[in-house]
Amino acid sequence: MTPVPTGSGYRRQLYRDDAVVLRVQKLGESDRIITLLTRRNGRLRAVARGVRRTNSRFGARLEPFGHIDLQLAGSPEGVGSSLHSVSQVEAVALYGKQFLTDYPRYTAASAIAETAERLTPVEREPSLRLFQLTLGALKALAAGEHAGPLVLDAYLLRAMSTAGWAPAIAECAVCGTPGRHAAFSVPAGGAVCPDCRPPGAAHPSPATLGLMSALTSGDWQVADASEPPIRRECSGLVAAHLQWHMERALRSLPLVDRRESS
Ligand SMILES: [Zn+2]
Repeated sequence: MTPVPTGSGYRRQLYRDDAVVLRVQKLGESDRIITLLTRRNGRLRAVARGVRRTNSRFGARLEPFGHIDLQLAGSPEGVGSSLHSVSQVEAVALYGKQFLTDYPRYTAASAIAETAERLTPVEREPSLRLFQLTLGALKALAAGEHAGPLVLDAYLLRAMSTAGWAPAIAECAVCGTPGRHAAFSVPAGGAVCPDCRPPGAAHPSPATLGLMSALTSGDWQVADASEPPIRRECSGLVAAHLQWHMERALRSLPLVDRRESS
């Protein structure tokens, strides 16, 4: 970090990082607050001055879902305003542009960004794994090689595993007995053996747990070949598991357009 003097009596520091833009909010007449998931500095919010003016050089690079390389300026921890400002931006890949006219992929990207924000409740706490997962999911969504809802569910399963509450799939969630068990219970933590199965456990199709396992491990050959009813059942279990562990429901998840998979 390079300390630079400012007029306000304390020294601001400049630092570079690359980041995914999770959210953009208006601030005043011409500014925006950008919520970023950065590679090295975790999630942070920064103010971008003047970006809503039509002649802004970097406004277009600060749209949601883009991968950007940026320079930030801010005071050290505990001094002055905690809101750092964006001083330079280079586009690495502006994935958001590719989702604007594609509602299913746009809604999947929104659910990915909201999940990333919710899984990083504390600002400036680096989470390299979650950064890589989020960037990888947006890249895969933009590439369009796999159905959007599958990319989203793969992301949600892996993001849950970084949070420590991925559903059990290859063993019983309660007693740990290995094997592919037939019942699935969200409150119990995933697949459950006949001995541990609580009342009200679901009995998904074996192919559904197979798809969940393929999405977790990145076996796209199996995932891409899955049938629409299996994908829907898998999405339902993944969403239920996610909502169970989050304090508040995701706003964007019910909006995800899953017609692409049918
Ligand atoms: Zn068990």
